[in-house]
Amino acid sequence: MVLFRRLLGILALASAVFAQSGPVAIINVHVVDVVKGQVVPGQTVVLAGGKIAALGPVASTPIPAGAQRVPGDGRYLIPGLWDMHVHLRSDQAKPNTRIADENAATLDLFLPNGITGIREMGGDLADQIFQWREEIRTGKRSGPRILTAGRKLDNDPPAWAGSIGVKTPADAREGVRQMKQAGADFIKIYFRQTPVQVVRAVVEEAHRNNLKVTGHKPSNLSIQEFLETGIDGMEHAQYLVATDRADYDRMNAEFDRRRGKDWAADALEQQARLLAMQDDAEGTKVWKAMAGKQFWVTPTIHVSSQVMQDGTRNYDSDDRRRYIPPSIWASWDPKGFRKPIEGRALTLRKASQKRWDDVTVAANKAGVPMIVGTDCGSNNNYTMPGWSMVEEMEALVKVGLPPAEVLRMATVNPAKWRGELEREGTVDPGKVADLVLLRSNPLESITHTKEIEAVFQSGRYYPRSELDGMLQRAESKRNF
Ligand SMILES: [Zn+2]
Repeated sequence: MVLFRRLLGILALASAVFAQSGPVAIINVHVVDVVKGQVVPGQTVVLAGGKIAALGPVASTPIPAGAQRVPGDGRYLIPGLWDMHVHLRSDQAKPNTRIADENAATLDLFLPNGITGIREMGGDLADQIFQWREEIRTGKRSGPRILTAGRKLDNDPPAWAGSIGVKTPADAREGVRQMKQAGADFIKIYFRQTPVQVVRAVVEEAHRNNLKVTGHKPSNLSIQEFLETGIDGMEHAQYLVATDRADYDRMNAEFDRRRGKDWAADALEQQARLLAMQDDAEGTKVWKAMAGKQFWVTPTIHVSSQVMQDGTRNYDSDDRRRYIPPSIWASWDPKGFRKPIEGRALTLRKASQKRWDDVTVAANKAGVPMIVGTDCGSNNNYTMPGWSMVEEMEALVKVGLPPAEVLRMATVNPAKWRGELEREGTVDPGKVADLVLLRSNPLESITHTKEIEAVFQSGRYYPRSELDGMLQRAESKRNF
């Protein structure tokens, strides 16, 4: 049976080469209006020229002659998903070994999971990623549309291989210009601690070059001061935890005085202090300010439990292992780069995590614009490219966000972030035909986004058999 399925997959892949790109009609489908969070039943959706050419009730929507007919009966059509926090990079534990081909192989894991676009957050493979982005854009390679930060901007020396080390505002401007020239779509910062002038310089130079900036909040800056730099957003829900600004600055000054001494503050003390200092009234003000500025937050909830837990779950017999290149799988070994934590560190981590979950929901309710990102890729333990998308969406629903909101965060909001809502991000006439056909209603359960019948990318139809063929190809390529 398995062999037969694989054979079908390979045949489907072979036929894909000759696939016609003429009109496609999805007939009698439930269209999911992600903006309203509603289902519109009994629709015919016609795709032509890479776009949604027509959409309307079955009885009154003509099917163009020669169109390929896709039965939509009982199925649900959503916009293509975007994973807005992906890493294509080498194993940080082996910084001298580049694993570019292995990362390229994982590009085949996104479309079969309904992901038509990814936002790549920087690593050591920038040059290759620019090339893959181009190959996918021009149809030479199948895979999700890629937006990339290129190389991250970080302290000097940087924490991650491939990042640009920055000490001064002048370095910051130079780094931004370098990434602009290389073709980066946005700027990612990863400063652990840096003068606020450096962040301001990044933001000013990026905006001058029409690039958005997102990333980590340096720990020496309060969230209020960070927001004032004019930065466009941030990654990871943990920075949504707000404290009184003066209290935060005092804590920082104290940490500065203690730095390098025997009584320096360690990571655990910092975590405990932040837990103790959380101020919800202040949070409400901060989140309102974020909402007013259209400050984008990618919560990345699922990954934090993946990479920093007790390491008891064993993935050796996980089904998806066969699709992941061994060098990437090895980078997830809990004995490697990210080790399990225990004792007081684990207790604190769990308490912190609960806060991050809670502030994600509170900030979302306050109107902070959010996008789904999974932080998948090398080094982030068992956060698997493609499959992590539904896991992150399930995690967001589990902490308390409505499925309709999570679906918006994965479709229409990424289009807003890209400034492309006019032409992408919803199932509406005139929009780019990036779509996913599901067997069940995702508004009832976000887990239904797993049940993928077909994917359409710029109008190109990938039936299930072809998606399986893609997975098959990933499996056959995984031995390097
Ligand atoms: Zn990341």
